Amino acid sequence: MIYEYDAVVVGAGNGGLTAAATLCREGIRTVLLEKHNLPGGVASSFVRGRFEFEASLHELCGVGTADSPGSVRKLFSKLGADADFINEKNLFRTIVTGQDGYDVTLESGWDAFRASFVRACPGAGKSLDRLEKLFRKTDEALRYNDKKKGRPNKLVMMMKYGKFLISASHPLDDVLRYLGFSLRERLILETYWSYLGVPAYELNAFHYFEMLKGYIDGGAGIPPHKSYGLSLSLADVILKNGGEIRYNTEVTGFIYGEDGRVTGVYAGGDEYRAKHVISNVIPNNVFEMSDLKHVPRKDRKLVNARKLGISFICIYLGLDRTAEELGIKDYSVFIAHRQSSRGQADADMGMYVVNCLNVAVPEATPEGTCSLFFTVPVFSNGMMKNVTPENYAAFKSETARKYIEDYEKTLGVSIKDSIEEISVSTPATFARYFGAPNGTAYGYELSGWDGVMARTLSLGSELDIKGLSFCGGHSASGDGFGVSYESGVKAAEKAIADIRGERGE
Ligand SMILES: Cc1cc2nc3c(=O)[nH]c(=O)nc-3n(C[C@H](O)[C@H](O)[C@H](O)COP(=O)(O)OP(=O)(O)OC[C@H]3O[C@@H](n4cnc5c(N)ncnc54)[C@H](O)[C@@H]3O)c2cc1C
Repeated sequence: MIYEYDAVVVGAGNGGLTAAATLCREGIRTVLLEKHNLPGGVASSFVRGRFEFEASLHELCGVGTADSPGSVRKLFSKLGADADFINEKNLFRTIVTGQDGYDVTLESGWDAFRASFVRACPGAGKSLDRLEKLFRKTDEALRYNDKKKGRPNKLVMMMKYGKFLISASHPLDDVLRYLGFSLRERLILETYWSYLGVPAYELNAFHYFEMLKGYIDGGAGIPPHKSYGLSLSLADVILKNGGEIRYNTEVTGFIYGEDGRVTGVYAGGDEYRAKHVISNVIPNNVFEMSDLKHVPRKDRKLVNARKLGISFICIYLGLDRTAEELGIKDYSVFIAHRQSSRGQADADMGMYVVNCLNVAVPEATPEGTCSLFFTVPVFSNGMMKNVTPENYAAFKSETARKYIEDYEKTLGVSIKDSIEEISVSTPATFARYFGAPNGTAYGYELSGWDGVMARTLSLGSELDIKGLSFCGGHSASGDGFGVSYESGVKAAEKAIADIRGERGE
């Protein structure tokens, strides 16, 4: 069969869902094609016994509060999606064991954050003032940049927003040092590096600060019905606005016209023609599904040169006692046994994080129970390097045992005897489920020549194939739920302009 639409969106992950929702709300005839039988991609949940486990989301950045909404809350409300968020009051607890180690809990909201930080590091007051000033200047610089539609006067940027430019062009650790933070203070502030998988001596400071600010302002957002609830609410927007979603429909080919324009896709033996195609699928896979003579050489080189970002090993535990009974008090606790973020990059038993959803959402699991979600960053040359099909099952059991015992020892709690359900996912699980090479959680690593500023500056000149846009964690700004939601809206806006231009409207 041949189907004709204005727009085809491939993949119903966060980016694909917001892209399709934006298109439908603008009256664009849209079909969203998803290979699985449910929306969300990694923004999903799964059931084992009487537990429904969150598959991926620890915390959503940029949610803000109901009174002072952040970008994600605004995006859901603009799309008319029914979304609810709980704001977690603690930023995180971070424990580093051993000599010179620490056990610090930071709170959210600027005043509470400042007070909790100074309690842990009494000498940090002045440096925190400088950090707050930098955050304010950065907001001003971004507002000015928006006003100038991304073409700011360079002299104004240098004269008025010099400090912002320093943070935008230097690694996190250097900027924190420049602001006067001691080593211990820097390590505590840098805790979130392990979510992003780029060590603080490489991670762009502006990029990290945007995330940190997003969490400090109002706290991390936790959807009470898990990330799958958010995915369902976006799918509803699509259907209510006349869009179509076809599940169990895997795209196997991208169709190009003689002029190199993408004109549709193949899926399940059918052809879906469109004026514009948006891919929520990583470019590496799109190019594998394309006749390469149509893909510009520079774009092929670009995706080959880009380094894939981290993936994770996740251990999901359903426990037959409550968090209170087990003595679990923290929503998120980061644990490491060495002080530096430098050496942890490839380390087995480097930093890992454990979330207890019940601390934020007590009714997240059946009465009398709770769940724990361990996340262990896996770097490209890290923990999985000796794993074979033969030892895969043993590797999963052994990894789970090691981390559970380490958590018990570090926190002084006992959980092993309360385990009712256990499930372990690895980069192989993620690679198989949503198709990204190596199961990369955020697409390409945002560092070095491919950092956030470099990508922003080359927007519009890379992956500029006519009739095709990309959205998702692998697109320009990278990293996480908030950014992938926003990337879908941006891709849809580009598609709408393209479609309307073609119609001569
Ligand atoms: C374990 C884990 C924990 C994470 N924790 C956090 C967190 O706490 N906070 C945060 O902000 N971010 C987190 N992230 C990152 C975040 O989940 C991702 O950045 C984001 O969800 C990516 O969304 P996406 O739009 O790229 O879609 P994806 O989730 O990559 O979805 C792509 C979709 O395309 C579909 N698809 C693929 N190929 C085809 C095809 N050929 N035809 C049709 N459909 C296809 C897939 O089935 C999938 O539905 C985490 C990621 C992981 C893996």
